[in-house]
Amino acid sequence: MKISRRGALKITGVGILALTALPRMAFAARNSLRSLRTGVQPGGKTRLVIETATRPSYSLSYPANQLVVTLPNTAANTGISPKLASGTLVKSLAQAQSGDTLQIIVNLNKSIAPIQKSQIMVLEPNGDNDYRLVLDFVAGTGAATAAPSVAATTPAKKSTTPAKKYIIVVDAGHGGKDPGCIGRGGTREKDVVLSVAKKLKTKLDANGFQTYLTRGGDTYLKLAERAAIAERKKADLFISLHANANPSRKMKGFSIYTLSEKASDEEAKKLAEAENAADKIGVEGFTEFEENIRIALSSLQQHAVAEMSEEYATGCAKYFKKSSIEQQPGPDVRHAPFAVLRSTVPGALLELGHLSNAAEEKLLKSSAHQDKLVAAIVKSVKNYNFDV
Ligand SMILES: [Zn+2]
Repeated sequence: MKISRRGALKITGVGILALTALPRMAFAARNSLRSLRTGVQPGGKTRLVIETATRPSYSLSYPANQLVVTLPNTAANTGISPKLASGTLVKSLAQAQSGDTLQIIVNLNKSIAPIQKSQIMVLEPNGDNDYRLVLDFVAGTGAATAAPSVAATTPAKKSTTPAKKYIIVVDAGHGGKDPGCIGRGGTREKDVVLSVAKKLKTKLDANGFQTYLTRGGDTYLKLAERAAIAERKKADLFISLHANANPSRKMKGFSIYTLSEKASDEEAKKLAEAENAADKIGVEGFTEFEENIRIALSSLQQHAVAEMSEEYATGCAKYFKKSSIEQQPGPDVRHAPFAVLRSTVPGALLELGHLSNAAEEKLLKSSAHQDKLVAAIVKSVKNYNFDV
């Protein structure tokens, strides 16, 4: 799982900034430090983020109970306080300037093994962020103690890590034997959401995302399997598409949900029960090709996933409203125990509108309205802050 976000975890500690050597800037460093922060990633990883004004070059070394990140041609920044999340391996962070080389001294609770390349990213600026060197690590054994000392730091090498392509899994609800809800005009939820899902994939891919569909055709998939696909693809975001039905034919509008064990209201509870009921439809010959992925997340990680989901969902509601898509009366984001959202991937379930409402049924099956929905979802994804 590659989820990561600033603000996903409550920042509790006030960072300790110890400048061991900061000479007057007699040199003109090309790069400069902007911020330092840590966070917890699902899977128990500690994430360190070093934000710099230009693309950072770096090298790493691993003295006992430390990680040292050496940034050549980079100026320290005395004006910042590192933001340290609780529950990480990082005790404190310090900057040490020597000539035009900046070292970030990361004091750890435990030694770590050298960080694998796959756990290091250099992210391009986006939104409020500059360049970020992102390092993920866990407590390790052996190798760390044999690592060279700070003084023996190897020369910095240019980072060639490409900008990360974010992975989105789009889930068209229902399918196969399970039509979902059906409008008075005969429009089936499974068809509407598949059509929207396909359009959405095309647009997201065109916008630089790597998008996968849980189903590309009229097939039945268990809810846990949909969530498992998001896990297998190591998705950064999961979007489950649905359309609603209400006993009142007057009820219309979209609504957006995230996972919680307790429903936010009676309506959300009923909706989750209805959507979860999809799994009770028996299908002859269906083979589960994988055991349901069992997710044992710590409460801290669950909290992180929930906060990321909430932020995505809130943004999504905003873009729907901005696009003048009618909203069902109620809060922007509701919560309920949707089985399909039970994973380590942040995400939301979007009820795109009501098939039980005649006018909205007409809209939902029209290509123009589907395009409008897709455009709003694309905006919500593009504006979601994937990075720390
Ligand atoms: Zn549904």
